[in-house]
Amino acid sequence: MTVPAVTPLDLDAIRADFPLLAQEVNGHPLAYLDSAATSQKPQQVIDAEVEFLTHTNAAVHRGAHTLAAESTDAFEDARDAVAAFVGAGEGELVWTSGATAGINLIAYAIGNATLGRGGPAARRFALHPDDEIVLTESEHHANLIPWQELAARTGARLRHIPVLDDGQLDMAAATELIGDRTRIVAFPHVSNVLGIINPIDDLVALARGVDAITVMDACQSVPHLSIDLPATGVDFAVFSGHKMLGPYGIGGLYGKHELLNALPPFLTGGSMITTVTLDEAQYLPSPQRFEAGTQPVSQAVGLAAAARYLRSLGMDAVHAHEVDLERRMRDGLSEIPGIRLLGDTDAAPRVGLASFAVEGVHAHDVGQFLDSRGVAVRVGHHCAQPLHRRFGLTASVRASASVYTTPDEVDRFLDATRGVRAFFG
Ligand code: PLP
Repeated sequence: MTVPAVTPLDLDAIRADFPLLAQEVNGHPLAYLDSAATSQKPQQVIDAEVEFLTHTNAAVHRGAHTLAAESTDAFEDARDAVAAFVGAGEGELVWTSGATAGINLIAYAIGNATLGRGGPAARRFALHPDDEIVLTESEHHANLIPWQELAARTGARLRHIPVLDDGQLDMAAATELIGDRTRIVAFPHVSNVLGIINPIDDLVALARGVDAITVMDACQSVPHLSIDLPATGVDFAVFSGHKMLGPYGIGGLYGKHELLNALPPFLTGGSMITTVTLDEAQYLPSPQRFEAGTQPVSQAVGLAAAARYLRSLGMDAVHAHEVDLERRMRDGLSEIPGIRLLGDTDAAPRVGLASFAVEGVHAHDVGQFLDSRGVAVRVGHHCAQPLHRRFGLTASVRASASVYTTPDEVDRFLDATRGVRAFFG
């Protein structure tokens, strides 16, 4: 993918918005390279939540008093802002507690449709024994285990698109795998281990060709790319607030309007109904039908502030910045003896992260060594055990960038990594 020419980010101004980054860790200036696990939050996000909780907080969608109305406005304005950020239309953005919750919501709702819930409109979702759910070998466990559970409950079969040696999806195999039996195709937009942007247009086209539902895990793309979810053609997509400069405990589920309104709910209870008798209930349309119980209101306000912050930087500029850092990481790492990069290809577009293994040194030891030099990275399987197994590993080290990451931080990470093998030698 060619990255369009954009005005570079003003890193000094951005870093001033993230006071946490100005600290020392273990006697060294912090180099926070763990943004793919969770991003830091700008002061604007923290202030938006504090301001809401200080002056506006009240239960939303009920209550006749002034604060309840103001709270409801803030909550729904936040939905509009986040929906606009990903291009979602009216009724197409459901709040969840995060991406994991969003995928579980879809999988359990499809399970409910399979049990006959949701009436005739939901029949299109019902699975039958021998129907197939196609995933990839590179899933985060959040986009794997809910489908394993659904398969176990319905008798559907799981199939997996393999990952090639260079980290790209084996699209020739995908073309073979996605066929008449395929009912659901779920995939990551960007792998949280490889940083490769998958060919989602091709995956959506293959799924559409057999009338299968598509579910995209957009956790590692929404914070880093300019995305219009409806334009991608996916039926459902999930993303998480805490990875896109926003608060914990909130995420988004995007779904095409008509599909969300045909899908039976997963969680049920207060706030998602029109009428209730002792024996049955009528449900509100989307998004409320999927938002049972008290919602993460202050978090929604914070997430809207995060979306506005990212939008003010310009997502093309964010992507260009992070791709430059990724290039610097991968170039630097590939010159260090004993380092094995995962998904080290220039044939696919990427975001700003690099995962690697150091010959003879366990990833956890690498992580501790880097931490002793103030460098924060993620170590382990990154909730992607099958992908690590594919590469013959149990763990790797992942360095990941965000809008506030500087080339100097990447250089300090590379310097520290150069010392790993000598230290453990
Ligand atoms: N999917 C991917 C690709 C991720 O990287 C993560 C987070 O690590 C998740 C899903 C889970 O997201 P959440 O923390 O919002 O449940």
